Amino acid sequence: MQWTTHEVSNQVPDLHDYNLYSSDTVLQAAIQDSAASWYAAELKHLGAELGTQETLQLGQLANQHVPELQTHDRFGNRIDRVDFHPSWHRLLGMQRHAQLHALPWAQPRAGAHIARTAAYYLQAQVESGSLCPVTMTYAAIPLLQQEPALFATLQEKLFSLQHDERDLPLAEKNSMLIGMGMTEKQGGSDVRSNTTVARPLETAGRGHAYAITGHKWFFSAPMCDAHLVLARTEAGPSCFFVPRWRPDGSKNTILIQRLKDKLGNRSNSSSEVEFQDAYGVMVGEDGRGIPTIIEMANHTRLDCVIGSAGLMRNALVQAIHHARHRHAFGLPLAEQALMQNVLADLALESEAATRLMLRLAQAAEAIDDPLQRAWRRVVTPAAKFWVCKRALEFSGECMEVWGGNGYVENAPMARMYREAPVNSIWEGSGNVMCLDVLRAIAKESDAFKLLLDSLLDIALEHKGLRELIAELRTDLALPAAQQEMQARRFTQRLVLVAQSCLMLQSAPPEIAEAFVNSRLDAECGRVFGTLATPLPAQDILQRAWPA
Ligand SMILES: Cc1cc2nc3c(=O)[nH]c(=O)nc-3n(C[C@H](O)[C@H](O)[C@H](O)COP(=O)(O)OP(=O)(O)OC[C@H]3O[C@@H](n4cnc5c(N)ncnc54)[C@H](O)[C@@H]3O)c2cc1C
Repeated sequence: MQWTTHEVSNQVPDLHDYNLYSSDTVLQAAIQDSAASWYAAELKHLGAELGTQETLQLGQLANQHVPELQTHDRFGNRIDRVDFHPSWHRLLGMQRHAQLHALPWAQPRAGAHIARTAAYYLQAQVESGSLCPVTMTYAAIPLLQQEPALFATLQEKLFSLQHDERDLPLAEKNSMLIGMGMTEKQGGSDVRSNTTVARPLETAGRGHAYAITGHKWFFSAPMCDAHLVLARTEAGPSCFFVPRWRPDGSKNTILIQRLKDKLGNRSNSSSEVEFQDAYGVMVGEDGRGIPTIIEMANHTRLDCVIGSAGLMRNALVQAIHHARHRHAFGLPLAEQALMQNVLADLALESEAATRLMLRLAQAAEAIDDPLQRAWRRVVTPAAKFWVCKRALEFSGECMEVWGGNGYVENAPMARMYREAPVNSIWEGSGNVMCLDVLRAIAKESDAFKLLLDSLLDIALEHKGLRELIAELRTDLALPAAQQEMQARRFTQRLVLVAQSCLMLQSAPPEIAEAFVNSRLDAECGRVFGTLATPLPAQDILQRAWPA
């Protein structure tokens, strides 16, 4: 019998085989104008590789076939191994090859931080979970560089461009990954409450061996070759390099209790572990573990911003692609006025996030300059709060552009939506970031004044922005309790001013004006799609995702 009930029509083709870099007008122009222009050809190559159907599918597979914990072998011996789908290892191999784990440390030349940021941003558009161990490795390297004897034994494996998935003692491996273990059951933000203890095996102090006993409640990527772990000595919380294998070739006693069953970030294994006299070497000063490990935080927090900006870019591109193909009421969605408002608003948000991320990467290039220090030290936590949080609503709105098709798991939007919250939670949740902004300003008050002055120079023509900058100055004169109570309000203001100035500096004037006017308009911003008219919507969309 031959019959059909219907023909499939008006469904949107999958988006693949496009160049993530060449199709990104904002990123390309910013790289060409930056100290990282030497990296443009590399980014173009990476953008093409990441946009192939095969690569995009790796992201899907790695989240579909989630990691599995094997605590014991069949004889009952503990093995504490995590098994991954091959797609996970291929994604890590790509990141390694693109040097996302080490570029500015291995090649410390002008523009290296910006180059690595751009590459990470492209990779984040494909898969997020695999970024976690790469970020932690990247952030650990400058800390380990301060321990010359230890670093000399690790450097080659840290800088290696190969991903080595084998669970072997370090001496037998081609490369290594490093994770971080701070959070315990009783506290993640307040790591001073840590109860894990470290006892010197012989001599106490920096560079010496300890036995560590206790637990970690969130311990991502436990298959890493080592973790930097916070544990308490008599002098207070201290930082330890805890390898997966002991120097004598036996497995270190880091027992993986279970893997977390997570909302998103499912390709990545996040575990609960217990240390039973685990071997570790102290890094940094005895009792100064929190400042030591917090040094890593500026890097990991920037990666949260980059990761969320990349997620937003991917969600935006998918939303515009869908709206250009899908028809309703006789017209493509992208040609309907209200949908144009939604998409244009999303495109402005995405561009501002991308520009902020690049500006923070630029600041990482010159850490001794007070203005750059203010961007890095004050604006990084502010951006971590803002961009990661905007990604939540952003990904939900992009999913809605897809209608019902956005809500199902065999399309890309659901994974992005489930992925969005984690960057806002780990590495310091929203409130902790806003309080850190205040703390950083108190420490860097002169540098912060320079920052506000430089923003004012850009904002001179804009009464609204001038007023916001004046309010930022007045807020800092408030009593401490009041400042703390309104730290989110302060941080929101700071980021909106910073993003507005970056848009005014670099975006075409009508697009920059659309951003600034909408972000200062009390009627805008509660939901996307509330931009006032007249609005250069076609120009904004064409720039965001050239038709
Ligand atoms: C998927 C995933 C993977 C992770 N991987 C790791 C890892 O590998 N290593 C690791 O060490 N940790 C890891 N974490 C833990 C993560 O860093 C913590 O969850 C995070 O720091 C928050 O700590 P907490 O969960 O204990 O929340 P809490 O510290 O209890 O905080 C709860 C809420 O209270 C707020 N808060 C805290 N203090 C204040 C205050 N003074 N004023 C106002 N509000 C406040 C916070 O902003 C937060 O919203 C991971 C978490 C997740 C979700």
